[in-house]
This record gives sequence, structure tokens and C-alpha cells, in this order.
Amino acid sequence: MRKIKFFDTTLRDGEQSAGVNLNLQEKLEIARQLERLRVDIIEAGFPASSKGDFEAVKQIAETVRACSVTGLSRSVRSDIDAAWEALKGGAEPRLHLFIATSPIHMVHKLRMTPEQVIEAAVEAVKYAKRFFPIVQWSAEDACRSELPFLAKIVAEVIKAGASVINIPDTVGYITPKEYGEIFLYLQNNVPNIENVSLSAHCHDDLGMAVVNSLSAIEHGATQVECTINGIGERAGNAALEEIAVALHIRKDYYQVETRLNLQEIKRTSNLVSKLTGVVVPPNKAVVGKNAFAHESGIHQDGVLKEKTTYEIISPELVGVPSNSMVLGKHSGRHALRNRVEELGYTLSEEEINQLFIRFKELADKKKDITDDDLIALIFEEKFDHFKDFYQLSSIQVQYGTNQIPTAVVVLKDGKGNEIQEAATGAGSVEALYNTLERCLQTPVTLLDYRIESVGGGRDALAQVFVKVRAHAIETSGRGTAQDVLEASAKAYINAINRVFMIEAMRGENEKVATP
Ligand SMILES: [Zn+2]
Repeated sequence: MRKIKFFDTTLRDGEQSAGVNLNLQEKLEIARQLERLRVDIIEAGFPASSKGDFEAVKQIAETVRACSVTGLSRSVRSDIDAAWEALKGGAEPRLHLFIATSPIHMVHKLRMTPEQVIEAAVEAVKYAKRFFPIVQWSAEDACRSELPFLAKIVAEVIKAGASVINIPDTVGYITPKEYGEIFLYLQNNVPNIENVSLSAHCHDDLGMAVVNSLSAIEHGATQVECTINGIGERAGNAALEEIAVALHIRKDYYQVETRLNLQEIKRTSNLVSKLTGVVVPPNKAVVGKNAFAHESGIHQDGVLKEKTTYEIISPELVGVPSNSMVLGKHSGRHALRNRVEELGYTLSEEEINQLFIRFKELADKKKDITDDDLIALIFEEKFDHFKDFYQLSSIQVQYGTNQIPTAVVVLKDGKGNEIQEAATGAGSVEALYNTLERCLQTPVTLLDYRIESVGGGRDALAQVFVKVRAHAIETSGRGTAQDVLEASAKAYINAINRVFMIEAMRGENEKVATP
């Protein structure tokens, strides 16, 4: 059977989603999880685009051993140099070079003639080959390019040393039949194309990213580029989990193999959703909350008699846990550490110690500590802790149906100074947020506010997600606590801390248009 490689770009194209700003710790955690999922290639970022991206790509390349790690690069020497510096410590350094090939992009964006584009592409591939054992070359906006020109430039970059040719549908415009035909055209019109791998990269503007990727596989592609939960620029990228499970369930039809560990899918989806703040819709294929729920009486009856009557994918296949393990008041440090490891998180000794303290505090108030509770605590300890920025010391909120809601907040800044303020609002959360805004002395626009319970029960933890804009930066934040108002305050402070962190790196952090 043909082998299909999975190229995951959650940390590059996915990270370009509006409002998503992952920090280094979060990117590393996702990379480690992608390694467990056994994707073939991790695109860790765009090293020349910012100092933060460079550092993240470097650390991921040096950490991940079981996957090839790659970084994006424009067709200029300075980008390639930066990428090599970031990637050279990897197990299998690989460069992802791109240049636009459609008339629209060449005329308006690059302002180059087709001949100049070929020359720049060839020169970049040759230069990259001095350092990188594997060079992947992408024709940005390939699907709106003229096919004879596309074939010509692909032939030239193969001659120059590219070993993977990627055909991105950058704007999500192509249909499945047309996309397949591009792959066939290239195979029939480019000399030596049988010596390279062909790759698909699809966007979901018309809702066809997954089916286009599958069409590419049917027409000769041996690599697909995708993201977890389909996150990405605009409407997103092709969803890795959907392609992977379609290839598995319909192996009879597609006749291909992958090296993925499908049982890690659900965990990867949860991690990416939690860290990015991008919610998975309940009806989303494979990873949605309702993907395995049978609601209609007739369906339920059928499934009880014989699962396969209405169920083509078993939840166990993608690692949906059938029973959630529970820890309690008497569970020790050892049991906690084991469970953290089983959940797939990597914590240092100090982090485990801190987590154990938080765990005991929670166990005093809540009888059963579920996996979801534990994950919420891990997030607080590992990802949401900004030592050098603001921290919540205390809140007090007064509410009554005949009263004006009033909040008092005490914050600590990065230097340990206490800031105390009070304000009112039309509701408790507004009073709280007005007070926090006063403490920070900076205008903050609240773009989104969501609250959910972690698991069921009256004593469940509250988890709040917010999206804010401050200093022209949009970012999200999350907070967990047993009380909804405390969780609300924590989420707000978490988001604001991210704004300040991004601001600290400003100037080096603007994003560049990419395929
Ligand atoms: Zn893309």
C-alpha cells in the first residue's frame, strides 16, 4: 500500500488564526503531543518572521526526535539563513520554501515577471540545498496559477534539488475534481516528477479542504498538510483528524497507509482547543462532543442491539476515554504524577509539587477530582502563570437584585507592587471588569466572554474564556476557579498579560503573508 505522510502545520498556519497567540511553553506542549500522534512532519513556525517564532522553532527542533521538524521561509537568503539556524539541531532538518506563482500574486504582490519568479525560486532552492538535506518547495496560490507555467517552475525547482513539491490552494478556491486534475497534469508534464513527493495544502473557504486533500491523495499526492481541528487562516485548513480517520475507515477505497497513532487524536484535539481558545463545534466530525452521541430513539435502539447499525467510527479508535479516572482527597503525589503522565503532560518536579498543593486544596472542596479538573489545574500551573506580569491577589464583589453591583480588586504587578481599585457596573462581571480596567489604567475592549463548567455537578469548577483587544492587540485568555467571578477575573488578567507579553516583543513580531 502507498504510504501517506502527514505534515502538521497547526503551529504555523494554525497559529495564524485570528486571536490565537501561543507562547513558547504552549507550542512545545503541542509539538510533544504531535510527536505522540506520530505525524511525519511538524511545521513549527516561520523563523524569520519574529524573534518569538525563531525561538519556538529552535526549541521544538531540538526537543522533538521522532518527527521531522520544518520551518517556513520566503525565497530569500536571509530567511533561509534564519531557518537553518533554527532547524539545524533537529533530527531531520527540512526547509519549507515558498513563492507565489499565480498571475494575481506575481503582478500585484511580488511585482515580478514569471521569469524572475522562476529565477528566484531556483536560486533559493539551490542556496537552501547547501544546508538542508530535505527542501520542500511550495507554489503559493498554485490553484489559480496557469498550469503550463506551474509545470515549468516545478520542473526547474526539482532540477535545483527540491524533493517535495507542495501545491497549496492558498485561498480555498479549488474543487475536488479540478484539484485532482492539477496533480495529474503535473505527473504527465513534469520530467522526473516520479522522484519527488507531491503534497496537498488546502484551505476551507468553501468547506472543501478535507475533500480536496483526499482528492489529491487519489490523484498521486503522498503528503497532506493539515491542522488539528482544522484551525488556520480565515476559514481554516484541512482538519488532520478528518483526513486521517477517513483514510482509516475507508481503507478499502483509498488503499493507503499512514503511521499515525489514531488513539491520540482526541487528546491532541482537546489540547489544541484548550491552548488556542478555539472551540470545537459539537457537531464537528471525529472530535466534536456529539460525534458519537446517538439521539434518535430508533438509532439508540439499533446501536444497543448492534453498534455498527449506526456507528461507523468507534470512540475508542480516536481515544475517547470510556470511563474517566477519578482522584480524591486521599490520593497521593505518586498517583497524581502517574495520572498527569497518562494524560500526556510533561511537568517538571517543581511544577508537580505546585500542582500537588493545588490538587489538595481542590480535593478539600470537591469530592472527586476528574481528569478534566486535573487538566484545568495543569493549565493554571503550566501555561497561565505569567510571573513577570499581573497576578490576582483578591476580589470582592457585591451583588443584590436591588443593589448596584460593586467590585473591589487587589492586583500585584510584576515588581510585587499592590494595586487596589473599586468600581461599579450593571452586572457583577461588568463591575469586576471595570475595576480591573481601572487597576491596569489602560482601555480594554471585551470581544468575547464564555463560561462553562469543567465536568458535571454543582461543585464543578468554572472555566471562563475571554477575548480582548488592548493596545491594538487581540488575544484570548482563560481562567479556572470554583467561583465564576474569580474565574472571570483570572481569564481577564490572563488575556491582558498575553497582550503585555506580545507588546514586549513588538516590532519583531508582525506576521508576514504566507501560503
Ligand atoms: Zn495555508
